[in-house]
Amino acid sequence: MNDAKTDRQLRLYVGLVAFGGLCCLVWAAGALTAVAPGQLLYVTALTVIIASATSRLIEMRVRSDHHAFTSTSGSILVAVATVPLPLALICTALGILIAKAFLRDSLKISFSVAKNVLAAGAAGAAAYLAGIRPPTTLTFAVEFGPRLVAALVLASLAYAVVDELLSHTVVALATRTAWLQSFKRNWDVVAVVRLINVAVALLVLYVVKSEPLFIAAMVPAMLALQFATKNQIRQRVDQEAWQRLAASTDQLNVTDLTGVLHAAVTRVPELFSADGAEIELRDVSPPRLVRGSANRISYEGPATEAPARTGEVIEEDLRGPENERIGVLRLLFRKSVKLSDSEKYKLQTFASSLYTAVQNARAYTELKRINAENAHAAAHDPLTGLANRRELLEQARARFAARNTDGIFALLLIDLNHFKEVNDTLGHTAGDDVLREVAKRLEEAAAPGDLVARLGGDEFALLLTGLPTPAVAAHRATALLDSLERPIEVEGMQLTVEAAGGIALAPGSGGVQELMRRADVAMYQAKRGGQRTATYAHARDTADVGRLMLGGELSRAVAEHEFTVDFQPIVDLGSGEVTSAEALARWHHPQHGHLTPGQFLQTVERSGQLPGFVDAVLEQALTAYRMWLEAGFDLPVAVNVSPRSLLDETFPAAVLTQLARHAVPADRLVLELAETLTLSQLEVVDRALNELRDAGVRLALDDFGTGVSSLSVLSRLPVHQLKIDRGFVRAVETSAEAAAVVRSTVDLARSLHLTVVAEGVESEPQRLALWELGCVAGQGHLFARPMRSGRLLATLQRGSAGRPGVLAGALHPAGSVVRMPRRRTPGQGRSSLPHLPA
Ligand code: C2E
Ligand code: CA
Ligand code: CA
Repeated sequence: MNDAKTDRQLRLYVGLVAFGGLCCLVWAAGALTAVAPGQLLYVTALTVIIASATSRLIEMRVRSDHHAFTSTSGSILVAVATVPLPLALICTALGILIAKAFLRDSLKISFSVAKNVLAAGAAGAAAYLAGIRPPTTLTFAVEFGPRLVAALVLASLAYAVVDELLSHTVVALATRTAWLQSFKRNWDVVAVVRLINVAVALLVLYVVKSEPLFIAAMVPAMLALQFATKNQIRQRVDQEAWQRLAASTDQLNVTDLTGVLHAAVTRVPELFSADGAEIELRDVSPPRLVRGSANRISYEGPATEAPARTGEVIEEDLRGPENERIGVLRLLFRKSVKLSDSEKYKLQTFASSLYTAVQNARAYTELKRINAENAHAAAHDPLTGLANRRELLEQARARFAARNTDGIFALLLIDLNHFKEVNDTLGHTAGDDVLREVAKRLEEAAAPGDLVARLGGDEFALLLTGLPTPAVAAHRATALLDSLERPIEVEGMQLTVEAAGGIALAPGSGGVQELMRRADVAMYQAKRGGQRTATYAHARDTADVGRLMLGGELSRAVAEHEFTVDFQPIVDLGSGEVTSAEALARWHHPQHGHLTPGQFLQTVERSGQLPGFVDAVLEQALTAYRMWLEAGFDLPVAVNVSPRSLLDETFPAAVLTQLARHAVPADRLVLELAETLTLSQLEVVDRALNELRDAGVRLALDDFGTGVSSLSVLSRLPVHQLKIDRGFVRAVETSAEAAAVVRSTVDLARSLHLTVVAEGVESEPQRLALWELGCVAGQGHLFARPMRSGRLLATLQRGSAGRPGVLAGALHPAGSVVRMPRRRTPGQGRSSLPHLPA
């Protein structure tokens, strides 16, 4: 241990000094001649003077600042100048012994005695060399004059050298500070005091020259000198101590707590001349303890595990302005000590500075943590941990700045389809699970260097970087969307996430905003086109107003009846006769004009305005039905239903109320349902559809054949009709697969007693092909585009070839109309059909 080593060194040193002193005294005792009775009084007075000059009564009470502020040297100078050296040494030893006896510390006493004896010896030797040889008879042989002054100065110097050397060495050893540091402190005052001592000695010598017993008068003179210097020195010492305190507290101004504690623990011992210090913070669990000494930390850790303390402890609480106690500062001493009032006050001051420093460091750490957290939160999405919109924009901006070096980059926007339904029906926990899984998959599928972000809701974005050619962006996008294909398991259910992605390459101008806009446009193109991804192409950019819609606009649209409905007739493919009509919503926007569902539907679905919109559509559809009926055309009306409406528990009641209000039989209303995953999996949807079906409302499955799970949906949903998606109709004459889908749909429908309607019939060959495949109903531009209900009525009334209610010529002469289309036998003509499970 360091402390033990210091102790050993100190003892060894003191031992050496004591030995030196003892040698001097042994010599003195041997050389001592008998003291004449006349001298005895003088010698006693001399001893008393040395004792009182050294006494603590008038010594500065500053630990470790010790020796030089006394008039010890003056009295010793008088001794060596007036009595033979052996006698002077013994007087010195006795005087110091008396002065220091109260210390009760043999080490200190013997050091003090030995040091002064040695110093007195040196002074005596110097005086002797300078020609001062006091006779044993106590008569002053030396003339007053320059010679005496020179001798005294020399003796004082010799005394000073020994005194300084021995004293500072002991201080340096005890406090483990540099020798020079100890020496430099107050050296100027010390030098002055030494000079004054010489002067005092001269004065005393002058007085005792005529009458030796006048020496008694020296006691008050010395006391006066000490008092004179005392205040000055006290001020100095005090000031210095405060300066050191201030410097130490300055060092506490660091921002980390450990730094504060270390600085305090290592500074405190020097400030209070303690052997060590420790700080225990009690307001943390477990209490933290730091212990150390002037230049090292000896323990740091839980207070309970700290090695036991030895020696004396002085404690000071660390308290805040409200008196709250956060811990304690302890000064550790090997020996028992008592602090002066001023030291106590300094300790309090230091403790309160330490309190402030600790709390500051803590506050700073907390602030740093909060800042870091804020920075992270500001850049990340809390749910998925992905970058957020802000971060994405920031990074994109950085890419733009560095584009010359980084090559091509692109933005991929991904929007999940029908996510809201999952969220609303399965609950937010499940929705969150899906989002997290999507985030995970995107991250896994992303290339190193790509930034995956969640923009909010079910919108994700990827900054694709390091693209060798623009075409690679589309490949990467496809791979990313592929990663979402695998069903996601949520609460035991297998959900398939559908998503659309829009890709935009970094444009030459317009920056991040333009990049975002383009990706957005592309994403909507993908959505509308039913593709998984689309790449932005300038030619197709029709600044998509649908994305600009605001919730406020939607409520106005509902209130101001800006939503209208067009009707597209559904005809008997064989006869051309109109059998029903599908209601298709339109928005007459005051600024953007005529908007189609593709432009606004998603906004409506995502807003709170869906019920109002549904009401407006139903209202107009049923009003149209009544109008046509009154004109003699009983045409069931088909209304499209958002999956989201099916999750709305009030939806069935809203439909039935409207039917009742318009006095429309339930079986004249067809609800067209888009095939989605939620349709087949959710109880709430089942309940709604069963309620409507039980009331007599007819249900159609829209866009049949496009969903991933057409058949499983069908096996569960109580629908009456299938609507073959436009995509198959368009390809029915050219693609064997499309024809197969149509054929199998027809077969399926027949076996389940469902009707089939082909969508998007645009040409006679399509009509014929459909007819031949067994599909008997269709709608499309071949027959009519969607139109206002009044116009449809006029069209119906006008009819075709004089037949009202007919829109096209019959496929076959009226007489030979075969209501059931011919069926091809398998293997004949077009490709054989896959066998569909029922
Ligand atoms: P959908 O139910 O498949 O409606 C048929 C869409 O095909 C309509 O587009 C229609 O104008 C268009 N169309 C009809 N014949 C042809 C043709 O021969 N060729 C081509 N290329 N297209 C044809 P629209 O009106 O833009 O509606 C788009 C989709 O918006 C609808 O698809 C439907 O899913 C949805 N939608 C329309 N009205 C409503 C509504 O009131 N509520 C809800 N929830 N969805 C609606
Ligand atoms: Ca439809
Ligand atoms: Ca459709």
